[in-house]
Amino acid sequence: MKKLTLLGATGSIGTQTVDIVLQHPELFEITALSAGHNIAGLKKILEDIPAKTVCVSEERDAETLRGEYPDITFVSGDEGLCTLAAADDYDLLVNALVGFVGFLPTLKAIESGHDVALANKETLVCGGALIDRALKQYGRVLYPIDSEHSAIFQCLQGNKKEQVKRLIITASGGSFRNLKRDELKDVTVEQALAHPNWSMGAKITIDSANMMNKGFEVTEAHWLFDLPYEQIDVVMHPESIVHSMVEYCDHSVIGQLGAPDMRLPIQYALTWPDRYFYRQDEPLDLTKVGTLHFSAPDMERYPLLALAYEAGKKGGNLGAVMNAANEMANQAFRNKEIPFLMIEDIVIDAVHTVPYKELETVQDLIDADAWGRQFALDKIRSYKE
Ligand code: MG
Repeated sequence: MKKLTLLGATGSIGTQTVDIVLQHPELFEITALSAGHNIAGLKKILEDIPAKTVCVSEERDAETLRGEYPDITFVSGDEGLCTLAAADDYDLLVNALVGFVGFLPTLKAIESGHDVALANKETLVCGGALIDRALKQYGRVLYPIDSEHSAIFQCLQGNKKEQVKRLIITASGGSFRNLKRDELKDVTVEQALAHPNWSMGAKITIDSANMMNKGFEVTEAHWLFDLPYEQIDVVMHPESIVHSMVEYCDHSVIGQLGAPDMRLPIQYALTWPDRYFYRQDEPLDLTKVGTLHFSAPDMERYPLLALAYEAGKKGGNLGAVMNAANEMANQAFRNKEIPFLMIEDIVIDAVHTVPYKELETVQDLIDADAWGRQFALDKIRSYKE
């Protein structure tokens, strides 16, 4: 029986993790979880999951909940997330938080001797160097939940890392993949949120529409699989059936295929090295898919993908600044404060303006994040005026 602590339980990955746990009550129990601001969603989860400790964003919500659930310990805020991650009464942290807020809990979990099943890619985009150092120091591992990285992880099983020639990350192209760049000027939030293949949270769906998400995934792959950026390629694949591939030194290419359903990579991260039955409504049937397409990405059409390679290769504080500016710009677009293409302008400008600095400490990372947020905020404000 594996005891899980689940951060971000009410989000898209969180609720699907709960699904997996409920499908396998003999394998897992969730003993602690976090739920942000979605108290209705939290209460629904608590009907099925007898958690002992729960973290919510606001202390006033925690106060109310203590009255309603006397058997559960409630904590709150970013500090509460770190308390859950640093506790010693669980086996595996599932980090399904969205954004930079996921970094510190990941670090705390590793430092307190836990492995982490990671859906929070911002952890590695911002502070990959610090996480990598902690993993080596404490002898812990990350299990990828992101579908592309789960695919690569699966393709690496039974093979030698030194014999890998390159990783090939597939990209659907997101909701605007059929539009040219000059057609993106007036696209709306509603159009951006309609992803052709995947059902995901709002933030990542916008990140997919401009391929910031794919750029993040390149950085994530760099840290997860310890390969230079020159050995990580992106290939457009609109059907989202081949979830990613690994090419070996003999040019053999191994890919992982499946229906676009996040519950499969979630389950594999929890059960590795084993595989278990998983109830899926429509398992992949290639005879129904018929044709699969692949093409090279256009770096001018998707400048944030190009930026992520640039920031990743230079390293230091650039990943954290890129992420922070993107979090603010993505949110501002969803609030209808700025147009879609301005997300790109803000993020590119932030990375090209910030003075470069190595990341030595967590404080360096927090400073870089704050710098990127302030830079983006100033740009958004001056646009609105
Ligand atoms: Mg992905």
